Amino acid sequence: MKYKPLLVTLLLLGNVLTSYGATGANSAVDMNTINIMPVLPYPASSDIHYEECFDLTRIIIDCEELSSATAWTEKYMKEWYGEFAPSVVAGKSVSGISDAEAYSLLSDGSGVSVKARTLQGIRYAMFTLRQLVIPKRGTKTIAGYIIRKADIEDRPVSDFRGLHICWFPEVQAWEVERLIRLAAFFKMNYVVLEPWGTFRSDVAPWYGYPDGTMTKSEVKRLCGIAKDLGVTLIPQLNVFGHAALARERVGKHAALDTHPEYQPLFEPDNGWNFCLTNPETRTLIMDLIKELYDAFERPPFFHIGCDEAYDPSCPDCLKRPYSEILSEHITAVSETIVKMGARPMMWHDKLLVKGDQRWKGFTATGSQETAKLANTLPKDIVICDWCYKTPKEDYPTLKYFKGLGFDVLTCPFKDVKGMETQIKFSQKNGIGVLGTLWHHYFGDDLFNIYYHLSCMMWYGDMKDIPYRSWLSAFYTMLRYVCWDMKFTDYTRFGSFKYQVPPENFLNN
Ligand SMILES: [Zn+2]
Repeated sequence: MKYKPLLVTLLLLGNVLTSYGATGANSAVDMNTINIMPVLPYPASSDIHYEECFDLTRIIIDCEELSSATAWTEKYMKEWYGEFAPSVVAGKSVSGISDAEAYSLLSDGSGVSVKARTLQGIRYAMFTLRQLVIPKRGTKTIAGYIIRKADIEDRPVSDFRGLHICWFPEVQAWEVERLIRLAAFFKMNYVVLEPWGTFRSDVAPWYGYPDGTMTKSEVKRLCGIAKDLGVTLIPQLNVFGHAALARERVGKHAALDTHPEYQPLFEPDNGWNFCLTNPETRTLIMDLIKELYDAFERPPFFHIGCDEAYDPSCPDCLKRPYSEILSEHITAVSETIVKMGARPMMWHDKLLVKGDQRWKGFTATGSQETAKLANTLPKDIVICDWCYKTPKEDYPTLKYFKGLGFDVLTCPFKDVKGMETQIKFSQKNGIGVLGTLWHHYFGDDLFNIYYHLSCMMWYGDMKDIPYRSWLSAFYTMLRYVCWDMKFTDYTRFGSFKYQVPPENFLNN
């Protein structure tokens, strides 16, 4: 009630707001014949009038988390629009919206009204609003902002909308931050961060590169940025294979290259797997998990990797069935994670027998031994089923894990047609999505993945929008992120660091 007098005043003010452009019926331009960049990810329902804009002077918020939603919006309006930021008015503490991530946004002659049950819904409304706002026309530099006429009702199709990001030694913190901020603007709610020898551990400083850029202070900073933008960061530690913390084909090992004294912790076969029968290995892994979990401010999930491991090659691990050793190991790791307050996530491929006809065309790298785990592992584990293939008629691996009682995420990569069909299948079967980027930090794959992944996760389908139009929308959003990060260096803008690669002089 205390806001009522202000609200009434502002509503009266709304009558004198300036309208720019013609209404649809009187427009000189046929809006059906020109392509304008879409709002990304596509809203569930939207009526946007690009030809008609109003001064952006105030935003009225209805939200059950009213004080935090108002404070958050005020902060970001100032950050995005500076001296021309609209006023933010706390409206009602009921929104009439039941879904936690849903929102509505109405922009017309009386101002902007947004409604959501939660702060998260209000964040999504504002990420949409940012795409509807442009500077006032006709001046040399910005003299205020206008917003397109719009009526939007929106909510995501997938509840779990994650992106897996690798932090390689070549990668700097700003690059990771840029991807996280972009994920937030594309309305994703989880980012898994996998350090590739870059995490600066105190409990095992030898396990990783001494100049790794993923310091605890950077992780803390990124957790804060992500949380404020509505994204939860999830740490990853590979507890089985991939112990080298380097891509296999490059032949590096983040520990053994410079610390051969720790060889007993790894299998003799190139150190790719941890030696799971060595009790010192278990101690190391548990210590690292606890350290990473605390560094990431105790999120609800922890990714334990477990993909692409090999058969053992040491005499101790060869004495018993590997399925027993593995099951004990992963169960112990999982129990520790559950006790800490999180759920483990793991890649699926070792749980399927390679060559089994049921998985033909899908990723299965397991043996009869490792595949037995599917029946013995705790159901707290979320199975991350990675499938980077072309579209399929059916997704038997997703059904298999779901049938065993696991929660499952489908994990596409850069094949966008495959991504579309597997996410559609997942959405029909109560399965979430964890997209992957791997080393594709830049270039065509970057915008292809963000665009298709976010639209599929949020809207549940792709529209026939010209390449140039959606690419413009992507780059506009990427530029917002770069502005927010206050870059000045040429290489940090856009989706390519260089237009002419520095090594090109060798080519001719
Ligand atoms: Zn061993």
